[in-house]
Amino acid sequence: MSQHDDIEYQLDTLAIRTGHTRSFEGEHSEPIFLTSSFVYENAAEAAAKFSGAEPGNIYSRFTNPTVAMFETRLAALEGSERAVATSSGMAAIMAVAMSFLKAGDHVICSRAVFGSTVSLFEKYVAKFNVAVTFVDLTDLTAWQDAIRPETRLLFVESPSNPLAEVADIQALSDLAHANDALLAIDNSFCTPILQRPLQFGADLVIYSATKYLDGQGRALGGAVVGNHKLLEEIFGYVRTTGPSMSPFNAWVFLKGLETLRLRMKAHSESAQKIAEWLVAHPKVEKVYFAGLTDHVGHELAAKQQTGFGGIVSFEVKGEREGAWKVMLSQQLPIQQQRLMVSFLLKQKQQRKMSMILSVTFLMD
Ligand SMILES: *Cc1c(COP(=O)(O)O)cnc(C)c1O
Repeated sequence: MSQHDDIEYQLDTLAIRTGHTRSFEGEHSEPIFLTSSFVYENAAEAAAKFSGAEPGNIYSRFTNPTVAMFETRLAALEGSERAVATSSGMAAIMAVAMSFLKAGDHVICSRAVFGSTVSLFEKYVAKFNVAVTFVDLTDLTAWQDAIRPETRLLFVESPSNPLAEVADIQALSDLAHANDALLAIDNSFCTPILQRPLQFGADLVIYSATKYLDGQGRALGGAVVGNHKLLEEIFGYVRTTGPSMSPFNAWVFLKGLETLRLRMKAHSESAQKIAEWLVAHPKVEKVYFAGLTDHVGHELAAKQQTGFGGIVSFEVKGEREGAWKVMLSQQLPIQQQRLMVSFLLKQKQQRKMSMILSVTFLMD
């Protein structure tokens, strides 16, 4: 058995076994605790649990056994101390902002991030007098130049969407720590299967569980992962303000995690084939995928990631008309049981259209 197989088996075992707290019924599958709150034998027990003197379930805004199972399993896959689940990926990002920033602070964020992340910083977090500077993901000098004495958070999504640019996580974490700031990575596209940013010095990893952790389009959720000290802050914020994950959704994500490694492997393999097929296609002008050896981020992605993921984007000849035609025809080279193709049109500076194609394999 090679070392690689060994790691895969470890991940598969963790994904199925970790976090399962069996109830007195001895059920096989994880129980769903659809309950708002819990009951106690007596007032003394209630008082001890409410005060934190005794561990235990209190109220599902911050203690729910099914949600805790998901948190434990995700933290194990990440190789981290702790995870806190949230109601969505955006709620996870907001939790990071509200937990670690205060009026007068400054954030540096990579320009190519999820659209709502831009609005979150520019429109909502800005109301609390927190400034944000957007920089190019790969331009380390731009990150350095953007640093101010009041910079407290560096936020990055890597590989970026749609151009698959890759951030040097180690270099950004060194920069953050030299300036008393935290580095948070939105790892939704790689998942802990393909990239574990904490290994490269990141402080916080953020997930939209809605994407690959579920992988089957069923539920909205998110999570923040990191060490106990930082996650205690996130926990306090979620406990107090309430963007908590539903126990039912946590159960869906638990099931999603069980098949995550197999799915991420399938995504990466399909994306590689599609990217190579697109490169050879006469009507395709340019393909953006870090799995292609001539992509600028290829080497860095190969160092930081164990696979290149499932997001491929490309430009077709014939501008908008051409792009729409491809979208309508959806002629893809790989057979799939069910294909979720999400196309996004991006108006680029040269008025060319680029297309983002995300291919999701489903297990059913
Ligand atoms: C979807 C997404 C989010 C937001 O997550 P929701 O679960 O939709 O709130 C954040 N980051 C990335 C990279 C995403 O793709």
